[in-house]
Amino acid sequence: MILVEVSLSTWCDKYGLTVEQEPCVKCGKLLVADVPVALSGYRGLKSQSHDCGKEYDHFVLVPIKEEETEWRKIK
Ligand SMILES: [Zn+2]
Repeated sequence: MILVEVSLSTWCDKYGLTVEQEPCVKCGKLLVADVPVALSGYRGLKSQSHDCGKEYDHFVLVPIKEEETEWRKIK
């Protein structure tokens, strides 16, 4: 997974993503998924890392088509 340097609104418009807020199941801190991320086959948003560790981050992910080539353009 990589962080993508793109504006949040551009990313959301492109992939139909919505910023989500959800409390951490461990510490109760409100996690806001507003960091654009990309991983193989998916594009989405994640919350900022916090003290509980990355397994508690909140993710919003959408699958993309395999033939999507945007990956290279972003890099
Ligand atoms: Zn937490």
